[in-house]
Amino acid sequence: MRILIVEDEIPLAEALTQILKRQNYTVDSVYNGEDGLDYAMSNIYDVIVLDLMLPKMNGLEVIKNMRAAGSETPVIMLTAKGEISDKVRGLDSGADDYLAKPFNTEELLARIRALGRRRGEVVVPDAMGLGDIALDTRSLSLSCGAAEVKLTRKESELLEYLIANHNSVLSKDMIIEKLWGFDSEAEANHVEVYISFLRKKLKYVGSKAVINTIRGVGYSLAEE
Ligand code: CA
Repeated sequence: MRILIVEDEIPLAEALTQILKRQNYTVDSVYNGEDGLDYAMSNIYDVIVLDLMLPKMNGLEVIKNMRAAGSETPVIMLTAKGEISDKVRGLDSGADDYLAKPFNTEELLARIRALGRRRGEVVVPDAMGLGDIALDTRSLSLSCGAAEVKLTRKESELLEYLIANHNSVLSKDMIIEKLWGFDSEAEANHVEVYISFLRKKLKYVGSKAVINTIRGVGYSLAEE
C-alpha cells in the first residue's frame, strides 16, 4: 500500500514516514499543499494523510481540488486541537476521516488500515485476471490453468498495474512512480528487469498473455 503524507511540520512528517515504512508501507512525503495536490493527482496512493493548515494551499482546498478533479483516494485529515470545528466538518470537505493532533500513532495506523481496506475492496481485489492468467495479490501467486508460480511483491504490483491498464500503454516513468514512488532512485532499467522477470514467469505457467514493448513509449499487456 502506498501512502502520501502532506505535512509542513517536517519532524512530524519524517517521524510518520519512518513509522509507516516500518509497517511495510511505501511512503512519499511533501511539505506544502500545492505539492500535496500535485502528488495526490497522480492517483497512485491508497491513502493520503493530509494536514489541515499548510503553506501555499490548505488541506481543505487540496481535498476540494482533488475531488473536483475526480480523485477518490481516501484522505485522513490531521488537525491541530481546536481546529476541527463543526464548521470544518460542515464544509463537507470530502475528507474520509479526521484525527486531532497530538494523536497516538496506533490510532493513525488503525485508521489507515481501515481506509486502505475500504479502498482495497473497491479498487484492488485480492484476485484479478486477464485472459488465461489469474493473479492472487495476497498470496503473490500467478496461475494459468493448473500451473502456478510465486511472484515477488514488486512483480505482483507490476502485473496488477499491467492488468488494470491492459488497454493502455504504461510508460517506464509511470511504472517507476507506481512501484517505487517519485523520490526513489529507481531507473528505467529496474523496470526492464522486472518486465523480463514477469515475461519469464508468464511463459513458465504457459500463458498466452504477453507483455508487448512499444518502442519509445512503454509496455502493454495483451491476452495474446
Ligand atoms: Ca500544519
